[in-house]
Amino acid sequence: MDGPRPHRRDDPSDRDEPGDGPHGRDGPATPERRAVVLISSARRRSSHPHPAGSVCEHPPDTAADSMRPSKHNYQMYVNRCLIVPPLSYAMPGVDEETAEFILSVRNSSSHRDVLERLDSGPATPDELDQLPVENARSVLEELLEHDVVSATDSEFELTDFGGRVLEYATKDWNPSNEGTKRARTFDILADCEWHCSSCELPSSQPAKDIQMLRKEGFEFVQNTGQGQGDFLECENCEDTTFHRKMKYPFPTSKPITRQNMPNSFKQRVRDLYDHRDAFDGSSPSTTLEVDHRVPEVRWEQSEDFDYESMSDDDIEEHFQILSRKHNLLKSRKCEQCVETGKRPQFMQIDFYYEGDENYDDQTGCEGCGWYNPHEWRDALQAQLE
Ligand SMILES: [Zn+2]
Ligand SMILES: [Zn+2]
Repeated sequence: MDGPRPHRRDDPSDRDEPGDGPHGRDGPATPERRAVVLISSARRRSSHPHPAGSVCEHPPDTAADSMRPSKHNYQMYVNRCLIVPPLSYAMPGVDEETAEFILSVRNSSSHRDVLERLDSGPATPDELDQLPVENARSVLEELLEHDVVSATDSEFELTDFGGRVLEYATKDWNPSNEGTKRARTFDILADCEWHCSSCELPSSQPAKDIQMLRKEGFEFVQNTGQGQGDFLECENCEDTTFHRKMKYPFPTSKPITRQNMPNSFKQRVRDLYDHRDAFDGSSPSTTLEVDHRVPEVRWEQSEDFDYESMSDDDIEEHFQILSRKHNLLKSRKCEQCVETGKRPQFMQIDFYYEGDENYDDQTGCEGCGWYNPHEWRDALQAQLE
């Protein structure tokens, strides 16, 4: 995983609290001493001057805190500051550091046990000591550091953020009904390893399942510039196939959503194109559908158009009109493109007005006849003349 990781206090040299360890420099750590140490360090951290939901931009030298600014301290600020924002969003959306932290909790029964105990109510240090959890103390310290747990005078309790971390770390996030191919697809991907699209995923249209999962906020590794996956060697298929790897077994991005298109806008688009199907120029008696040139399976973010203020040029850039039959055909071609990384021929002609048959994120759909048949025809015509 690229990018910064949450700072973990697992380096013994970091342990500078008095009474640390069974025989710290101030003698054995009794439960009372333990509580005092943890509570005082929690208090000290809470003096950090950020309102909840803001992101820390303090360079270490100006951080207004009683602790001496240093790289190490700054790292702690960063942890604290970045971990707060998800709470302030109504929509899901988890930054990478928080996601990595949640994943570590998800993979640690000790962390989950402590959090689940606190979920049923505050607990004293003695009560936590009675949990059958190894390293309860270092677990608790880490949870305090991430503001998952807070300390009152005598007890520890789950913070609001902690409640959310617990939910993310324990829930089965499979969004599909049990027994469906889609649910099976999620279960396979939930180990967050690479999986062959051709032989491991049960659906004949994995691209559609992935699109659905991405709409729900699940993220996929994309490291080839060829969409949401990578071309890797599959031993079973004895071939290079498209592989998928889900980043986290819980949703971390805001869902990718489609806007509701007003009927008046649809009518305007149809009028603009003189009610002619973009593929063959025909004017069928049935109503033509307004199609997004970039198919939903390729969307990286939610649609955000202000339909009222769109110019004709804007409309031509983003939309075309197609018969139901042509629209369905295009959808299938676009899904194949996502699965194979090969842009399908338009009208069975091996011509692209930009790029070639290989899909890459830089060019995107530009150059493909299914994306813009008008430009495709114009470019081909120009070559013939
Ligand atoms: Zn800060
Ligand atoms: Zn395979």
